[in-house]
Amino acid sequence: MQSERALIDLSESAFNSSRRSRLAEVQVAMDQGGIDALVLTLGADMPWLCGYEAMPLERITALVVPRGYKPILVVPKLEAPRVRHFEDSFDLRPWSESENPFHIIAELLGKASSVAVSEKTWASWLINLENELGSVEFSLSADVIGAIRAKKDPLEIEVLTRAANAADEVANQIIGGEVALLARTERQVSARISELLIEAGHKRVNFAIVGSGPNSSSPHHEPTDRVIAENESVVCDFGGTYQIGDEPGYCSDTTRTFFTGEVDPDFADLYKVLQLAQAEACRSATVGSTLAGVDEVARSIIREAGYGSYFVHRLGHGIGLEEHELPYLAENSTGILEAGHAFSVEPGIYIPNRFGARIEDIVVADFGGPRVLNQSSRQIQST
Ligand code: ZN
Ligand code: ZN
Repeated sequence: MQSERALIDLSESAFNSSRRSRLAEVQVAMDQGGIDALVLTLGADMPWLCGYEAMPLERITALVVPRGYKPILVVPKLEAPRVRHFEDSFDLRPWSESENPFHIIAELLGKASSVAVSEKTWASWLINLENELGSVEFSLSADVIGAIRAKKDPLEIEVLTRAANAADEVANQIIGGEVALLARTERQVSARISELLIEAGHKRVNFAIVGSGPNSSSPHHEPTDRVIAENESVVCDFGGTYQIGDEPGYCSDTTRTFFTGEVDPDFADLYKVLQLAQAEACRSATVGSTLAGVDEVARSIIREAGYGSYFVHRLGHGIGLEEHELPYLAENSTGILEAGHAFSVEPGIYIPNRFGARIEDIVVADFGGPRVLNQSSRQIQST
């Protein structure tokens, strides 16, 4: 494993050449979709294509990608020093306080009549742009980029693997008893997990859910001052952003469930079903499987065991530069798993006001079969 990984070049120029290949693919998709230009603002499309992440402030930063031409990064002059300018990949157009950035973008767009914008573009920016451009048909950049961004290249998979390893380190510390659960508040445990995520190499903590006792039956529980008592389930779901050098970071996301004291037999029954559902869904996540079909593998096992109405969310979400991105594995998903798709497999069973459990791993669909990136133990952990 180590020798295989050592072959992956993680230098700045490797990231940059990877981004140039993505741009070439995007240009083909623009051609096929009849899109004249992209205007990428907030969100992950911009860093994915040019390595720069805009600050989410009122001064607009936009990567303008005209079909068939080199992209131009339009950036506030005061933020321009933050840009790593890869001259072979994009041009730079800093704008000063006395200039109208929307006018600059409109000029760069020229006669473009169909323009795709990031979904996180502020409404005020879009309206300003609309006023400058007149009759232009706007659509979402996800329609052009989403499917391409969902398929990770080897370099991205390497960073996702390192992110998963870092999250596993934290999971192993909880499993090993290094993080006390009993008699601590959910908030204290969450704070400790957050510290450990950083110690394990994450640049940033994205979330550290700790739900204990009845709170463990709320999938997106916000940690409280509730003190964790004896004989309770504790769901810990955490993740952060892992960065190589100055490159845009990739996310980790894993969930393990614990039980304080001797495991309640009802809970043990529920957990056995959940563990089987999660393992079978991971196994079934092969290239060419339908997204809905993988969800159904877990859902049918849970349903047949009588817990169907307690699995209240989709099976999983894609992961990459964003914690949640394409592809989504849900009952109503359309489409199939493709090689390079990276996503979570995270079924849960939640008995309202009593207890709940979830197991979550990140999986990559590969021609050699599904690769489960998270490796910490999935056994019920009695602490
Ligand atoms: Zn999670
Ligand atoms: Zn997740």
